[in-house]
Amino acid sequence: MTSKMASCIFCKIIKGEIPCFKLFESDKTLAFLDINPLSRGHALIIPKFHGEKLVDIPDEHLGEILPLAKKLVKATGATEYNILQNNGPTAHQVVPHVHFHMIPKPNQEEGLG
Ligand code: 5GP
Ligand code: ZN
Repeated sequence: MTSKMASCIFCKIIKGEIPCFKLFESDKTLAFLDINPLSRGHALIIPKFHGEKLVDIPDEHLGEILPLAKKLVKATGATEYNILQNNGPTAHQVVPHVHFHMIPKPNQEEGLG
């Protein structure tokens, strides 16, 4: 294990050292609710392989992520949503472990955030 992994907050979540509200887990992928959600159902989907940016993650650790994002969108019932993945501080990445945001937009008629 590298020192970056040892101090990585998402690696600690993967290891169960920090709690999270888990939505899905497989041997390669984990999805959980964002601690500071931009909307109800805001989820993070991460490869269990530690890497800072998308190009650092081997393809075989990325394969479940978009299909899972689709499932989570459907589970929220959202019809409008953002899937975001930030790389580097100037691109608004704060946590240096690759993660995909799935951010549902509230349905207008429900007015839920
Ligand atoms: P970034 O700006 O790096 O793309 O987004 C990082 C996201 O991780 C933020 O939305 C932030 O709320 C979330 N986050 C940071 N620390 C934790 C944590 O300990 N638990 C959970 N569930 N989410 C976290
Ligand atoms: Zn990590």
